[in-house]
Amino acid sequence: MNIKSVASILLAMSSVAISFDSFAQNKTQADRIAEVNAILREVPVIDGHNDLPWQYRKKGNDLGAFDITKDTSANKLVTDFPRLRAGGVGGQFWSVYIPPTMTGTIGVRAVLEQIDVVHRLCEKYPNELELALTADDVERIYRSGKIASLIGMEGGHAIDNSLAMLRMMHALGARYMTLTHMKSLDWADAATDTPKSNGLSEFGEQVIAEMNRLGMLVDISHVSDNTMRHVLRVTKAPVIFSHSSVRALCDHGRNVPDDVIKLLPQNGGVLMVNFMPGYLTERGRQYTVAKQAEEDRLEKLHGNDRTASQAALEKWKQSNPRPQAADLKDVANHIDHIRKIAGIDYVGIGADYEGFDGPPTGLEDVSTYPALFAELMNRGYSAEDIKKVAGSNILRVMRKAEGVSAELKRNSKN
Ligand SMILES: [Zn+2]
Repeated sequence: MNIKSVASILLAMSSVAISFDSFAQNKTQADRIAEVNAILREVPVIDGHNDLPWQYRKKGNDLGAFDITKDTSANKLVTDFPRLRAGGVGGQFWSVYIPPTMTGTIGVRAVLEQIDVVHRLCEKYPNELELALTADDVERIYRSGKIASLIGMEGGHAIDNSLAMLRMMHALGARYMTLTHMKSLDWADAATDTPKSNGLSEFGEQVIAEMNRLGMLVDISHVSDNTMRHVLRVTKAPVIFSHSSVRALCDHGRNVPDDVIKLLPQNGGVLMVNFMPGYLTERGRQYTVAKQAEEDRLEKLHGNDRTASQAALEKWKQSNPRPQAADLKDVANHIDHIRKIAGIDYVGIGADYEGFDGPPTGLEDVSTYPALFAELMNRGYSAEDIKKVAGSNILRVMRKAEGVSAELKRNSKN
């Protein structure tokens, strides 16, 4: 036997070993997914943030624009009923987002139109969706086989500095309000803008008190560190981060610093992890920063000519292709970090699907949550841990906030 044939035998043996290995791994992965799916049948995914209503707005709020009963990939969407089902989703906070440029009555009108989209979706698809107003509603609805549909307002400019507007949004079903989006308000500072109040203004504190009384969750995604700390000092109910990641792993101003994560156990709130690569890894963040800078430059350059600035941005994107900046393991790392700093009771999922392009590898759409939970189980998470991250933690927070609201209403009558 010459050296060449020994080498070829060794090569053949090693390729058998490789294929056996990958077979064993695949089988384990398939078993894991089956295990996760069984867990999610008990406590499904309750995701903190999905921007599907905004996708409808881009089509004039025409509910006929997409057929979400079928795969919507052709519409460049990542959300539809078949994929929500495959993802084990039983509850979804649909974001009724309005951009920070929509202020005053324009913003109020826009958010009402967004809320209307969620109401109409529930009406159009009664076998799939039902509006949920309480934690009990969420459980009843997902047990009946439908997806509990919650309304999350993003951000606080939608109430146009009016507590009456806040109360009316609650009456229409809004169950959280993200205090700010990218821009600081008169009463709350954003993470990505110049501060005005170093946290909350006096009126900002009144907004929190009224949200506590109403039982509307205070969402401190997007706000500045000082606003996070200020809210945590004054709120009587647990808070949420509906879609935020952690600063220690990706240095974005809108991610949550460790000293704030450490305050969560005392407050009882939950940090629901965002899947956007720009918030997950430094590589992702740097690309997002560069793209934003170019967008700002082009907007200034072209003024009101949106078509010209959009066209120029597309050109920029072609010569600066988005890097594959994050994968499923990065999201698991963020969850691990929160678990390490605060504990398993304070982590949730707020993927932000439909709110960004270029999802992490392995988490391409709403069908992929089980793959993330399989990864967490591979890292030693128990079935109980998975239930907490998927849905139990946010349900606990909702219940607690409902209890605080009932108590505050009782006391205010005395
Ligand atoms: Zn957002």
